[in-house]
Formats: sequence, C-alpha cells, structure tokens
Amino acid sequence: LDADMRQALASGDQFFLAYQPQFSLSNGACVGVEALLRWQHPLRGAISPAQFIPQAERSGFIVTLGAWVLDEACRQARLWREQGVALRISVNVSPLQIRRGGFAEQVQTTLSAHGLEPDAIELELTESLLVDDGSAAARTLNALADHGVQLAIDDFGTGYSNLGYLRRFQIGRLKIDRSFVAPLDDAQHDEAIVQAIVQMANSLGIDTLAEGVETEAQRQRLSSLGCKHAQGFLWHRALPAEDCASVW
Ligand code: C2E
Ligand code: MG
Ligand code: MG
Repeated sequence: LDADMRQALASGDQFFLAYQPQFSLSNGACVGVEALLRWQHPLRGAISPAQFIPQAERSGFIVTLGAWVLDEACRQARLWREQGVALRISVNVSPLQIRRGGFAEQVQTTLSAHGLEPDAIELELTESLLVDDGSAAARTLNALADHGVQLAIDDFGTGYSNLGYLRRFQIGRLKIDRSFVAPLDDAQHDEAIVQAIVQMANSLGIDTLAEGVETEAQRQRLSSLGCKHAQGFLWHRALPAEDCASVW
C-alpha cells in the first residue's frame, strides 16, 4: 500500500480532493467546504482514506501527502476566488505533519504561493495532538493562529476528557463528532452531550459545527440546541470540485 501511495502521488492522476460543503444552521447559507482526500487506484478502484491514511501515518508518508493536500486545497481556493467564491476550505492535518517541525512556515509559504489570506483555510486538528504534544505543538499552532489561520478540532468529544487545551490554544471551532449527532434522531435520546458541547463552546467564544448530519430531525434539533454550522449527507457528500458550483 505504501509503495502504491508513493507511486500514485508521483503519477499525479490518482489522488484528488473532494469537497463537502458546510452550512449555516441559522440561514442555510454555504459557509465553507472540507477537503477530503480521495484515491482512485488503477487496479483496486476507490480506496477509502480510512484505509490509507493510517498506513501513511505509520510510514511517515503522510508528511509528503499532507503537503500535497494543503497545496492542492490552496490551489482550488485560489481558483474559486477568481470565480468570485471566497469560501473557507478546511484541511485535515495529521499530528505527524506538526511533529516534524517547520509546519507553520510550510503553511505560510503555501498560502502566499497561491496569493491567499491566512483565513482562506482552516486546519482540522485532532484532540490527541493537543493533549499529547502540549507545548511543542503549541508553538506551531499559536504561530499559525497569530498569523490568522483558523484552527478547528475534528471529531470533538471522542478523544479525551482533558479540556484544558481549549484555553491554551486559539481554537476557532469544534467539530462535534458524528457519534453524538446520530442519536439526535431518536426523540427519546438524551441530547445532553451535544447541548453541553454547544454551551461550553459558546461560553468560550468558540464556534460549533456538527458532522455527519443525515436527517432533517437531526438538523432541527441541532439548530434548536444552538449549534452554528453543519455538514453531512443531508446536504451533500464530498463532491468533485467541478460539481461544487451548483451548491453556491
Ligand atoms: P473526518 O475529517 O472526520 O471527515 C468526515 C468523514 O465523514 C468523511 O469521510 C466524510 O465523507 C464522512 N461523512 C460526511 N458526512 C457524512 C454523513 O452524513 N454520514 C456519514 N456516515 N459520513 C459522513 P472520509 O472522506 O472517508 O474521510 C475519513 C477520514 O479520513 C476523515 O475523517 C479524516 O480523518 C481522514 N482524512 C480524509 N482526508 C484527509 C486528508 O487530506 N488528510 C488527513 N490527515 N486525513 C484525511
Ligand atoms: Mg475532518
Ligand atoms: Mg470528523
């Protein structure tokens, strides 16, 4: 798999980014997109990132692959801006990319190579990075945040119970994990976890986005709980860049 990934990146026509639109729950407007990596293997067909990202993290290839993702997302952001669409693109970042060092510089260089303002992108981070790597990650992430790059916590609520990092880092947004969103379908189910996350985020001045929204019932309950943004199959799956024009 690892050798295949390296070859795929070199070949230039197997990896691409698909974009899942994100919406405001108050007015229904599209507020951004998440870039999700896709691999179309010549023999094996589509391979899920849930399969190949963990392998890329084990081998370290994620550092190279992640740099490509960032560059490609910025190239697309530039293109959309030239067409008058200035939506923020969220980019998933693996902890290893930050542990390797030089990440803040890499992000700034990539942004300026494409003539983008820092707030054109949002970096999606994992809770494990913020908890395990405390002070080393803090320098990098605070440099990025000071520069104006937005930071979000992906899959919030699944990783850790130590929330002190929310004060130590300049986090703009919590992405509420799908596992807390799905049960909102059931009228009997306690919505306490989503409610608690939204209230905590509000009092810390942090935005919230619900992931994996699939039903109208979920959308309505999230909206009445005060969650700001959402993405999910209820609106769209991740789309090829060309198909996004129909969304906005
Ligand atoms: P994630 O960042 O939490 O991305 C959300 C995943 O949930 C995506 O799966 C998306 O297609 C899926 N999803 C979105 N809406 C719904 C919904 O309504 N219902 C359901 N059941 N699923 C929904 P995907 O694209 O397979 O990505 C899986 C994971 O792979 C991502 O989770 C992320 O952790 C990782 N990943 C994807 N692209 C990249 C990348 O460029 N870099 C890194 N480091 N990781 C990536
Ligand atoms: Mg994500
Ligand atoms: Mg997620």
